[in-house]
Amino acid sequence: MTAHIIDGKAIAQEVRAEWKVRADALKARGIMPGLAVIIVGEDAASKIYVGNKVKACAELGIHSEHIALSADTHEATLLAKIAELNADPAIHGILVQLPVPKHIDSNKVLEAISPGKDVDGFHPQNVGALVTGSTLFPPCTPYGAMKLLEKTGIEIEGKHAVVVGRSNIVGKPMALMLLHKNATVTICTSRTRDLARHTRDADILVVATGKPQMITGDMIKPGAAVIDVGINRLPSGKLVGDVDFDSAKEVAGWITPVPGGVGPMTITMLVANTVQAAERGAK
Ligand code: NDP
Repeated sequence: MTAHIIDGKAIAQEVRAEWKVRADALKARGIMPGLAVIIVGEDAASKIYVGNKVKACAELGIHSEHIALSADTHEATLLAKIAELNADPAIHGILVQLPVPKHIDSNKVLEAISPGKDVDGFHPQNVGALVTGSTLFPPCTPYGAMKLLEKTGIEIEGKHAVVVGRSNIVGKPMALMLLHKNATVTICTSRTRDLARHTRDADILVVATGKPQMITGDMIKPGAAVIDVGINRLPSGKLVGDVDFDSAKEVAGWITPVPGGVGPMTITMLVANTVQAAERGAK
């Protein structure tokens, strides 16, 4: 069996087109959705992510501000900048690219962002609301993974979903979102005994571990939907996921490639959250 490839690039284009219609409707009413992205320091990967976020806003024709602060910026200066953006009516979404330098308390930073502008969905108020199914902003990566399932027509209700990884930004919110769609959810971590026993029982398998190619074909149930969140660069320079694509695609029913799977969706959902924030403000 060879799996259907879930084309994240194509689905991201489709979803962006849907949100462009909504952004254009706001612009026709004189409201320009605006996103502020703050980066502190010189982390090369973070710079690329921020550049891609700003580019996605430009493609959709919405306003974005790229605020680059030096690595030695005081925490108080960053918090003051966030307070300024919280009060700025031209800005509907604020995100601070993580990680921030060690001398800055990332929890303090996330709590400083107004929950109504927290387009990454990391403010404790939005995280809490995610548990009850009422968050203003679903975190972008799991939100994007859910969209891939929805757009591919993969049924979630009643299915056994296994999420490997429990980070605050991917694993935990992903598990909650699947639960809200009535999946039976198992969460696996580095402490899970006999991981393969769990993954082999998954109708939907979501992998977010940061361990290159750790899930192999023999760990997958025939016909399963496999969502690979991982992005890892091998010493050879090749980009791979947390799933061994070549062996997995022979067993799975559907699978996301890396690159071109979840990655393009993350930025798309960030733009979606920004437009949605502007819509809320316009009511
Ligand atoms: P974290 O390092 O924060 O979390 C990794 C999780 O995986 C932890 O919960 C850890 O368990 C678990 N884990 C690690 N090894 C194993 C193992 N052998 N068996 C089972 N569980 C294991 O990573 P993130 O969630 O931030 O990111 C995960 C991956 O997703 C990375 O490759 C990252 O680059 C990628 N990513 C991709 C994005 C995208 O846009 N596509 C966005 C964000 C991340 P424990 O808690 O016990 O330590």
